[in-house]
Amino acid sequence: MIKNKKPLIIGNWKMNPSSLVEAKKRFLLIKKSALKYKNIDIVVCPPYPFIPVLTGSLGKGKQPLAVGSQDVSVFDEGQSKTGDVGVKMIESTGSKYVIIGHSERRAMGETGQTIALKVQQVLKTNMKAVICVGEKERDVDGGYLEIIKAQLKEALQHVTRADFQKVIIAYEPVWAIGRKDNVALTSYDLHQMVVYIKKFFKETWGETIASIVPVLYGGSVTGDNAEDIIVNGEVDGLLVGRASFEAATFA
Ligand code: PEP
Repeated sequence: MIKNKKPLIIGNWKMNPSSLVEAKKRFLLIKKSALKYKNIDIVVCPPYPFIPVLTGSLGKGKQPLAVGSQDVSVFDEGQSKTGDVGVKMIESTGSKYVIIGHSERRAMGETGQTIALKVQQVLKTNMKAVICVGEKERDVDGGYLEIIKAQLKEALQHVTRADFQKVIIAYEPVWAIGRKDNVALTSYDLHQMVVYIKKFFKETWGETIASIVPVLYGGSVTGDNAEDIIVNGEVDGLLVGRASFEAATFA
């Protein structure tokens, strides 16, 4: 865990809820409970159309939570890329974070090279890039460790040293995401992965950068396992999917 840094809890709403009215209702409830958690940084990542309304409902001054985006285009604004949403558009809506390389987008064909370009886009702004990595399955020979290293190397290939302050890694083992039984990775196994990722940063970019890049965990986090994952897994925060949809379970 990064010393003297608040844990960062990011809610990924995926394709939920189905209306703007409902999104605002849920967000205001989350905002209310966020006021109680002064020692945690909280972020909600709704679908694109809801971002400006949610940031608009935050009010002025220091806020208990922030809003992020679930993706970004690799292209700059102004191009003929129907359906894409550019990084400047997202920043202009008040978003502070962008999730990149979520396994659900990788499953739809997003490649490591595309992810690297999206990271580059986000780092042109003041937003933070939340880069997701994770193996599809765990083999007994530890091959999954090499997969994580390769995903990190690929995603970070264009990142300069100065930009690392805007980089966040979300380790999300694909097999642990969206499970009906809500069985997350054990905090023991998670701790080993956190050590592995931080060691990779240290060996590649040195101690200082390794000490500033937060490593989050995502995959079937619930109110029941969150504390164990943070404390014993020694992560710097969580990326929460389903349990972030409702204000009560997220709280
Ligand atoms: C996610 O979508 O990033 C995620 C971790 O989902 P869940 O918490 O539902 O497993």
